[in-house]
Amino acid sequence: MLPIRRGDRGDAVVEIRAILNSLALLGGEGPPDPDAVFDGPVERAVRAFQQARGLSVTGQVNEETWRGLDAARWSLGARTLAHVQPEPLFGDDVRELQERLLELGYDLGRADGIFGRHTAAALSRFQREVGVVPDGVCGPLTMAALRRLGRKVVGGRPTLLREAERFRASGTALVGKRVVVDPGHGGGDPGVRVPDGALRWNEADLAYDIASRLEGRLAAAGMRVHLTRGPAPTGPLSEADRASLANELGADLLISVHLAGHPNPAASGVATYHYGHYGEGGITSTLGERLAGLVQREIVVRTGLRDCRTHAKTWDLLRLTRMPAVRAEVGYLSSVEDRARLIDPEFRDRVGDAIVAAVKRMYLPLEADVPTGSIDVESLRAAVRTI
Ligand SMILES: [Zn+2]
Repeated sequence: MLPIRRGDRGDAVVEIRAILNSLALLGGEGPPDPDAVFDGPVERAVRAFQQARGLSVTGQVNEETWRGLDAARWSLGARTLAHVQPEPLFGDDVRELQERLLELGYDLGRADGIFGRHTAAALSRFQREVGVVPDGVCGPLTMAALRRLGRKVVGGRPTLLREAERFRASGTALVGKRVVVDPGHGGGDPGVRVPDGALRWNEADLAYDIASRLEGRLAAAGMRVHLTRGPAPTGPLSEADRASLANELGADLLISVHLAGHPNPAASGVATYHYGHYGEGGITSTLGERLAGLVQREIVVRTGLRDCRTHAKTWDLLRLTRMPAVRAEVGYLSSVEDRARLIDPEFRDRVGDAIVAAVKRMYLPLEADVPTGSIDVESLRAAVRTI
């Protein structure tokens, strides 16, 4: 039956005309006409379709073009997508889903439009991270989560797309990845400072302590780690200085550690920040948002700090860095409860463990993405749902 060419009639021609019409390549089609012919306008539409898809432009519907037309019937959201055997689902909707997941940093191989095992695994990871039941099936809830993220990247800055590209190209191995850990403040700037009896706690020292615990753990995982400052720098370091240091080092990730403070002693909890802003023309670093979300959830689950959620900010450090970057504000030094935890070295170890777990999740190869024994999946999901 293939190729179908000028002068042909039949069911296949009726179908080809209907698809080309739905793609707005063929104008003025009425209801399907069983006697419709593959005429000049159809041939031109087929050529235009082939050109747009990078197929050889023949004006005839061969095997390759038929597959392309068949795929083009589906737009994302029009049907539920899942990994089915033995004939996997195929279509432009699958390709679009794959492209979205790739952009978010989930490595599933090539976006080939075929819903295979890797697509299902990547989708499950995305679902787990956004708090949808991780069943690998793209239904209405998953679509809603994708839309929420997708809308924000429409018209995204090219630098953010390049960020996603670099992240994907860097592969899944932790070994050799470069992480810049940035303890906030220092060099005469103590950050948040509270008197506590005879002791004086300040944000700069505690942030440095957490950063150095994190440094040791990341290095033990084979990553190359740099701190933006030492325990007692001679002068203050601006956010822009810290960002250019990370850029010059070609860092794969940046993690900035701060504590929070507030005049109201009831304020408490952990919050994370990534590059982005909401509203008209809103934009986000999807990878930064993902990293921030992971860091937030791991810290909440592992430390029990109150969940103050993940937020988009355009702060210099987040805006000027060319890699996924997160700023974590791990507890309020001004809260009696948070402070009691923060001054306990064992607690600061747990914060370090949580951030390392988040980094590992960011890079975990799909095959290895099983819930680890140290994570209670139910409580992880419960924590995620509140975000
Ligand atoms: Zn701070």
